[in-house]
Amino acid sequence: MSDSLPLPQKAWPELRAGWVWLCGAGPGDPGLLTLHGLNALRQADVVVYDALVGEDILSWAGDAELIYAGKRGGKPSAKQRDISLHLVELARAGKRVLRLKGGDPFVFGRGGEEAQTLVQHGVPIRIIPGISAGIGGLAYAGIPVTHRDVNQSVTFVTGHDQTGDTPGSLDWSAIAQGSQVIVIYMGMKHIAQITQRLMEAGRSPSEPVAFVTSATLEHQNVVESTLGTAVDDAKAAGVEPPAIICIGRSVLMRQVLDWQSLEAGAAPRNLDPLDRGRPAESA
Ligand code: SAH
Repeated sequence: MSDSLPLPQKAWPELRAGWVWLCGAGPGDPGLLTLHGLNALRQADVVVYDALVGEDILSWAGDAELIYAGKRGGKPSAKQRDISLHLVELARAGKRVLRLKGGDPFVFGRGGEEAQTLVQHGVPIRIIPGISAGIGGLAYAGIPVTHRDVNQSVTFVTGHDQTGDTPGSLDWSAIAQGSQVIVIYMGMKHIAQITQRLMEAGRSPSEPVAFVTSATLEHQNVVESTLGTAVDDAKAAGVEPPAIICIGRSVLMRQVLDWQSLEAGAAPRNLDPLDRGRPAESA
């Protein structure tokens, strides 16, 4: 067990031999790991981690064995089953196993499948949520995922399914009509199709869009665009995965809430980007 990083005084749960804890590591910035995550790292014998889990967090695992289980998006799910069965084997070998996944383990991360396989094999589990990129990553870009003047709902969408295609099961027209703000994970590959379908279903080409790449990391980059120009703007700016795409007027709030630019000394671009014409907190 690693004691190098202190935890606040509390009766923290014990990661026991033969158990697997599925834990979210957050979107990138190691400070966004939860205390339960840190508690898990300090106790694990083995950490099985994904592509988007950062080095800093892994370095907090003490002398635990680190096993990389990264997969590239859109690949067939056979390997997914191998990962789950590997977790079962490790647990059966009496290890204290930490399965560390980017963001939140239950948000587009197949954490549910892994957990289900573990339970089906009689392996005891605990789930540790994490900050999902579609919420925390947008917050680092100065975009509130809900904002009272903009949306009472938000839709999280994955840009492709297991086959690598845009999710055939998604009714993009219904999403376009029913979702004030749309947050897309894994959307870069099919961005042209997605924006096209949304506009065909009535969303305005002038609607604000933001691409947030490497969110919460030092090289975080944000490209502001519109639905009609998103494909060209992303291309021109060299937007590469991992990226979160946010579609909706909440993107405008970045003009006043881009706190990283404010921290660097920039002035807010617009104190009232939604043109409310009155103080932000008034009813
Ligand atoms: N479970 C993760 C999502 C896994 S799917 C979560 O809750 O965040 C992987 C996708 O998440 C990426 O393709 C990208 O769309 C998004 N993503 C994860 N980390 C990101 C980051 N730091 N910056 C931008 N997008 C990120």
